[in-house]
Amino acid sequence: MIDLRSDTVTKPSKEMLEAMMSAQVGDDVFGEDATIIELQDYAANLFGKEAALFCPSGTMTNQIAIKAHTQPGDELLCDVNSHIYNYEGGGIAFNSGVQAKLIQGNEGKLTAQQIENNINGDYDWLTKTSLVSLENTVNRAGGTYYTCSEIEPITKLCKEKKLKLHLDGARIFNALEETKENPKSVGELFDSVSICLSKGLGAPVGSLLLGDKEYIKKSKRIRKAFGGGMRQAGFIAAAGLYALKNNITRLKEDHVKAKELEKVLKNLPYIESVLPVYTNIIIFNLKEGKFTGETFEKTLAQNNFKIAAFGKQTIRMVTHLDYDDTQHQQAIDILKKLA
Ligand SMILES: *Cc1c(COP(=O)(O)O)cnc(C)c1O
Repeated sequence: MIDLRSDTVTKPSKEMLEAMMSAQVGDDVFGEDATIIELQDYAANLFGKEAALFCPSGTMTNQIAIKAHTQPGDELLCDVNSHIYNYEGGGIAFNSGVQAKLIQGNEGKLTAQQIENNINGDYDWLTKTSLVSLENTVNRAGGTYYTCSEIEPITKLCKEKKLKLHLDGARIFNALEETKENPKSVGELFDSVSICLSKGLGAPVGSLLLGDKEYIKKSKRIRKAFGGGMRQAGFIAAAGLYALKNNITRLKEDHVKAKELEKVLKNLPYIESVLPVYTNIIIFNLKEGKFTGETFEKTLAQNNFKIAAFGKQTIRMVTHLDYDDTQHQQAIDILKKLA
């Protein structure tokens, strides 16, 4: 079975399972889980942040981040494609009583100028702009990424305007693989950073929110109120530690395969267009007539190949560490056979 619906479909390897089985654990609500403490310290240190908080999902780390940076009635600024707006169940309004002002960026990326144009003035009839959230890589825009030099003017603007700056870095390591930048140079540009362990890094569960000590202390209280305080979760934290230590350097393989799929798709008669592939996400449009997103999904499923329809004529595929060379060749053969 080939499964390119998402990079979340991976299963723990034997080595990862062994690390999980031998984890030192304790009750983390009492702060007694040695493996969670180790994971939080490791991740904070990696990004040059003071502290980190282990959570069950990236949705939770993003939602806690928003809650901790804002007051009800505030407004945050983000790109129209943002995961925090599109795929978190309306959490911005539900959890924080905050509204989002959506900006149409370029391939999911915002500039300091666009952000500045959307900051409200200090009038009591205008919504208070208090937070900016960037996503790197941008999932819904096809895995595009920011370099640090593109973010620097945004950081400067946010400091000037006293806005907090959050990074949804669910796939930040995919971005860093391409920019060859250091996680610390990303960390210093943001007030808070969310990273996912269960995407390209292949852990079964888990995300981390990074920030300064005060902020993480506040976030920990919010995590508890959201029902995210966990007990002997060191078993899953061990998978996350294993992922951070072993599965970052191989991400390039996923990018190479994604590029190869892009090349194949571009030459197929039933494909209308393929968004430029930057990392491990491939988004393409089907020509009207032969397939709809739905029938394409069904046809591939009959060939033991799972993909996700992303819209009426739009398909998304994501490469990951359980998608090996043999599957890659099979996938290419199936795609060509349908022509
Ligand atoms: C997957 C993802 C998240 C978090 O999703 P969870 O499934 O809740 O872990 C956040 N942001 C982006 C861009 C993502 O792709």
